[in-house]
Amino acid sequence: MTIKIQNILMSLLLTTSFAAPTCFGQSPNRADAPAEMKWNLADIYPSWDAWKADLQKVTTLADEIQTLQGKLGQSSDNLLRSLQINEEINKLSYKLYCYPTLSRSVDSRNQETNSYFMQVLGFFQQLGTATSWVTPEMVTIPESTVMKWIDSNKAYAPYRFGLTELYRTQKHVLSSDQEKLLSYFGLATGAPSNIYTELATSDIKFPDITLSDGSTVKLTPGTYHQITQFNKNREDRRNAYERYNGVYMANLNTFAAILNGVFQGDWAGAQARNYESFLQASLDPDDIPTDVYLNLINTARENTAPLLRYYELRKKVLKVDTLQSWDNALNLSSFEKKYSYDEARNIIKEALKPLGKEYGAKLEKAMANGWIDVYEGEGKEQGAYSMGVYGVHPFILMNYNETLDHVSTLAHELGHSMHTTLSHENQPFSNAAYSSFVAEVASNFNEDLLADYLMNKTTNREEKINLLEQSIVQLIGSFYRQSQFADFEYQARTMVEKGEGLNAGTLKAISAGISKSYYGDVVADNPYRDLVWAQVMHFYQMKYYVYQYATSYAAAAHLEQKITSGTAKEKEEALQKYLTLLKSGGNDHPIEQLKKAGVDMTNPEVIKSVVTRLNRLLDQLEAELKAAGKI
Ligand SMILES: [Zn+2]
Repeated sequence: MTIKIQNILMSLLLTTSFAAPTCFGQSPNRADAPAEMKWNLADIYPSWDAWKADLQKVTTLADEIQTLQGKLGQSSDNLLRSLQINEEINKLSYKLYCYPTLSRSVDSRNQETNSYFMQVLGFFQQLGTATSWVTPEMVTIPESTVMKWIDSNKAYAPYRFGLTELYRTQKHVLSSDQEKLLSYFGLATGAPSNIYTELATSDIKFPDITLSDGSTVKLTPGTYHQITQFNKNREDRRNAYERYNGVYMANLNTFAAILNGVFQGDWAGAQARNYESFLQASLDPDDIPTDVYLNLINTARENTAPLLRYYELRKKVLKVDTLQSWDNALNLSSFEKKYSYDEARNIIKEALKPLGKEYGAKLEKAMANGWIDVYEGEGKEQGAYSMGVYGVHPFILMNYNETLDHVSTLAHELGHSMHTTLSHENQPFSNAAYSSFVAEVASNFNEDLLADYLMNKTTNREEKINLLEQSIVQLIGSFYRQSQFADFEYQARTMVEKGEGLNAGTLKAISAGISKSYYGDVVADNPYRDLVWAQVMHFYQMKYYVYQYATSYAAAAHLEQKITSGTAKEKEEALQKYLTLLKSGGNDHPIEQLKKAGVDMTNPEVIKSVVTRLNRLLDQLEAELKAAGKI
């Protein structure tokens, strides 16, 4: 229960997608935008002086907690007081951290802001060291004593879940001597991840390619995706695909050796802490059963029929005998539409109406009161995210470029912000932060509602085809693709845990086996297809993480079906359960929270909701393509 920067960072819910190409002229700029379209950071602090005053306050609180050192177990009051002070420190720390962080996000050129940001990081470092005794001392108090204290004093209620968790996770904490020994190896076992970053970002050199129209393009992840998505010349796409993936191919043995190093280090750590597998070690902090993981990868692999149906359909539209990897991303429709920010707001408001009046009112407030920094500007951070500040409100960063992709991103980030708002309003600080396992449910849910709303509304066939395709691509990217990755990670790590080392050959073989079960013979094989493990940063840095994109997508699809179908009474019940989930923050293990909302993540039926959704979208797409004479 020391200050954990990573907990603060957890509330930063980033949306990373490849920059969607702007197909229309310049979008509005931040400099010209009215104040309501920029963050009102005065909601956190009116001035840097107020920020400094809180920094002083935390210093005083930290001094107060020091007076309790060696005395936590002496009485129920002492422990309670330490928890209360700790909570106050954490609450203020969020504000202290978020104020300079958000200021920097909208203008990284401001040196004053940058220096405050560095100051707060240094301060947290000191604070962490000064309070590092708190958790180890707490767990020396017998669990039964603490449970008695909790039961006999209502003031302990906000801390019950956290304290229970503390004792549950203690089982895998070693003696202080052993922990010390392990800590000596921390930097060394982390080295392969850093080597990956250097090789895959700093040292990577993509070539220039010449396209069929004679133009030369420098390949980057952005231009590569632009070519494979929009360039109608098949040779250009093949050229881009081979040259881009060829860069990874050239370093394949090095990537394999690094991945082997990462997985071996993780397995050593899991064994040292008496876990049966690294999967168990990874899922333990949120108490997620390993069955949830296995259910996902098995059910996804057994239900690829609609995926193959989609690729067969693409084959017909593109009029090719064999579908190649470089044909997979090409847009089937060239429909383009511009959405002003005002239009985007209205569309989202209408699309999210199934979530009820209470949600709608909060949404309206979020979109009108300096919660969203809308437009791109000089010195402003790229991408999009939602950051919650307890006791204030969430802030959304956008770089809105008027494309459909960005309307969807806004709905996504608003999903996070509404989740945060409802959690913060209904939970004490200690239980307000939700886990990453449930985080993407709220955002995916909103994206699905938006897509369905737009599809039902349009009367333009090309627009409908475009919307259906975008929804399908989103579903495949979030669910099937991530399930494939999760499958790969599980198989590769299992090999390591059985004592079999990994190399480029074995990794390619695992990947090829998965491709075979997902694509059959519908998408042709090629020498570059099964090298994707060299490109997915998560395998090297965010271990056993990607599966959550797929489980969240499935949970959202399942909930959306319940809320939008059945009798009025059934819909209302499902909605209330969903809102309860959003209001529950982190007051229980995520699997239990979802169960209360009517979603059992160990049940294959939940995963199959995605199959139902994809089949429904494909039925519509097929009908529209037929009517348009494209198939
Ligand atoms: Zn997100």
